[in-house]
Amino acid sequence: MPALAEAEDAYETVGDYTAPNPVIRTRGVDVFYDDNHAVQKVDLDIGQNEVIALIGPSGCGKSTYLRCLNRMNDTIDSARVTGEITLYGEDIHARQMDVVMLRARVGMVFQKPNPFPKSVYDNVAYGPRIHGLARNRTELNRIVQRSLERAGLWLEVRDRLDQPGTGLSGGQQQRLCIARTIAVSPEVILMDEPCSALDPIATARIEDLIDELRRNYAIVIVTHSMQQAARVSQRIAYFHLGKLIEVGGTDAIFTNPRHKLTEDYITGRFG
Ligand code: ADP
Repeated sequence: MPALAEAEDAYETVGDYTAPNPVIRTRGVDVFYDDNHAVQKVDLDIGQNEVIALIGPSGCGKSTYLRCLNRMNDTIDSARVTGEITLYGEDIHARQMDVVMLRARVGMVFQKPNPFPKSVYDNVAYGPRIHGLARNRTELNRIVQRSLERAGLWLEVRDRLDQPGTGLSGGQQQRLCIARTIAVSPEVILMDEPCSALDPIATARIEDLIDELRRNYAIVIVTHSMQQAARVSQRIAYFHLGKLIEVGGTDAIFTNPRHKLTEDYITGRFG
């Protein structure tokens, strides 16, 4: 169907998809699951110290795009990713790129908290140990404490570091997973609907935390909650059927969306 292909090629994202001094730069990113073209020609930058929210109807490719950024799609047999993705100018698909290292630099927090079946301490110490980030126990203790502090969990767990991480409440487990991600000093944190399994109070704590973490990290968050996108993000990327339709400042997207599809979605007419 050449006519359709031409129409697809002619498509362009509305708004400025670039960021000054991008941490991650993606250009022409396509993802296929076998024949399903799940992400189509996405150009987008992730900027320093920003929270960018990926929003859009279920199945529009948000999680798939997110997983491109630390090559998590490599773990899915049917997935094929093409296009250019760089982290501080380095091609993340380059032969010399160490994927384990990449996933430390671009950490990920999942929908359901997934602490290891280990103690609170060992959950956080795991990454620094395998990456050799501490020379001795004192240094490791310091990294564990600092990571738990940054994740807003230290005061709640300092007396139970040797107890299983899985024994914490859901919200605490998610903050433990954030501490585990932070412990290896990432440059970017990817969050895939990190509050969807949490109650409103635990959600509010994670949202406050996201705002604080922005001082040190670039954050990309997939969320189905427009209220959450409005509360935590500075920029919004709206996806529809695999395409990045519109990018803009959060306030501008909510008050003055430029694309009809974006407007329909944020006003609740679609999705
Ligand atoms: P969203 O995060 O916006 O809900 P997804 O990225 O999960 O969207 O899905 C985009 C498309 O890719 C959908 O058609 C979905 O069925 C498909 N998809 C997602 N994950 C997989 C997978 N692991 N294997 C095959 N197809 C998938």
